[in-house]
Amino acid sequence: MSESALAILKNTFGYDTFRGFQEQAIAEVLAGRDAMVLMPTGGGKSLCYQIPALARPGVGVVISPLIALMEDQVEGLRQLGVNAQRLHSGIDYHHQIQVEQALLTGHIDVLYVAPERLLTVSCQRLLDQVRVNLFAIDEAHCVSQWGHDFRPEYLQLSRLKERYPGVPRIALTATADQRSRQEIIERLSLNNARVFIDSFNRPNIFYRIGQKKQARQQLLRFLQKEHPGDAGIVYCLSRKRVEDVARWLSSRGTKALPYHAGMPAEQRKVHQARFLKEQGVIIVATTAFGMGINKPDVRFVAHLDLPRSIEAYYQETGRAGRDELPATAWMVYGLQDVVLSQQIQSRSTASMAIQRVEQQKLDAMLALCEVTRCRRQALLNYFDEPLEETCGHCDLCLEPVKTWDGTEAARKALSCVYRTGQHFNAAHLIDVLTGKKTAKVIQYGHQHLSTFGIGQTLSITQWRSVFRQLVARRLINVDTDGYGALQLHPTCKPLLKGDQTIHFRKDRYEQPIKGKAEERAKGISDYLHDFG
Ligand code: ADP
Ligand code: ZN
Repeated sequence: MSESALAILKNTFGYDTFRGFQEQAIAEVLAGRDAMVLMPTGGGKSLCYQIPALARPGVGVVISPLIALMEDQVEGLRQLGVNAQRLHSGIDYHHQIQVEQALLTGHIDVLYVAPERLLTVSCQRLLDQVRVNLFAIDEAHCVSQWGHDFRPEYLQLSRLKERYPGVPRIALTATADQRSRQEIIERLSLNNARVFIDSFNRPNIFYRIGQKKQARQQLLRFLQKEHPGDAGIVYCLSRKRVEDVARWLSSRGTKALPYHAGMPAEQRKVHQARFLKEQGVIIVATTAFGMGINKPDVRFVAHLDLPRSIEAYYQETGRAGRDELPATAWMVYGLQDVVLSQQIQSRSTASMAIQRVEQQKLDAMLALCEVTRCRRQALLNYFDEPLEETCGHCDLCLEPVKTWDGTEAARKALSCVYRTGQHFNAAHLIDVLTGKKTAKVIQYGHQHLSTFGIGQTLSITQWRSVFRQLVARRLINVDTDGYGALQLHPTCKPLLKGDQTIHFRKDRYEQPIKGKAEERAKGISDYLHDFG
């Protein structure tokens, strides 16, 4: 290991030791070879390119997908005394000239560039006049068309290899399943790159996913009981919901602030600054919030809506507990989420191939929700990192779910979908099953069906659970018409015909986990010791 890398770590960044395989990845780049780095969010990817950029003569060029991300990184580096700059569309002409001058006179060590700018003729000309010591491709999963953050400009980055054959390239990402990994390697021509894969396990995060029943109340109880006065992020799908939830939470005495792309930039800035500086601020946000926000003591991340993939879920929950102290990833979801997510997915205008992958990703996310054994095992398994033992530190390990034989109920539900012509949503089907003579039931004459009233042994909540699990397991499809009509999927045949049995999870609405996160943490020190 080069002395200077360690010296830079200590003198510039103020850390004593490298983390994970930072040291090896840095050595690789210093030796002039390509590398690919997969580390969970908060793992310390930035140092893997910042240190070699500083250690080698010349300038390290970093490609980053978001202006906010660049601004953040540059600001952070400048505070450490590093000559860092950036070029992106948010920089005015005057400033740009200054940056270019500084670059040409060798006064910049780390330069962040937006991908669309990097391959412009003018930028190429500029870079031809300086000594580039490495290219870092941050958030490299943006090159993957299957991923959740696809950026077409990233595809162009494959040209870097031919254009700058002698310059090492390092690609970094926190989210990449096997498929995306392969895609990144192919698209960026990284076939000869050494791949460094850090564990994706975040042992300090406690995972829990429950069923939704008055989501806001559930959230409030969770905050009051387990995270009073803690900073955290609440994710919602829509801007309107962000506003509603933020308002409601503040009216209940928490310091909650909204954040979404539809708000004035100025206000967003203020909210973000308060989140970073004040104690115990809760940001209620769409997924627009989070990338590049480096707040180590986020104690919880809550989801009130279902993320569209495990990658997205993992990335968002990964913002909790970067300081490695106990944190909670909390989520509630229900039938409506499952129906809605299927609808959004099926309305996608993407090509068939992409839609298929999106569907698979959503299915995997649903499977994680519905899993009956260790949540962390399921999560890590998805990232091809099998965990031998159950973790002992997730909701399902602490309190295993019970299952029940739902064969009879499932058959009644499926048959009701069939008898009503596959035109109705779950609410109506449940009315039929439980024998309610609503106006709609009468209008369609459904009180005369053989399935009318055959489901009175189960409550409405239980029926919703049955339908949710049938949809989540793709035995039932959701129609794309916007009304959420349920339709039979061919795979349900054996079940309908009585050739197959099915077990459902027994839902839990009440919070099974007692005590504050801190207290719970005391009991898990052994666990953290084993994994940490
Ligand atoms: P990522 O980009 O992987 O999400 P960052 O590079 O932003 O993560 O690093 C996350 C946090 O960990 C930062 O606060 C960073 O300063 C810190 N960090 C990184 N490497 C080390 C190290 N070797 N020792 C201590 N802290 C580190
Ligand atoms: Zn577990």
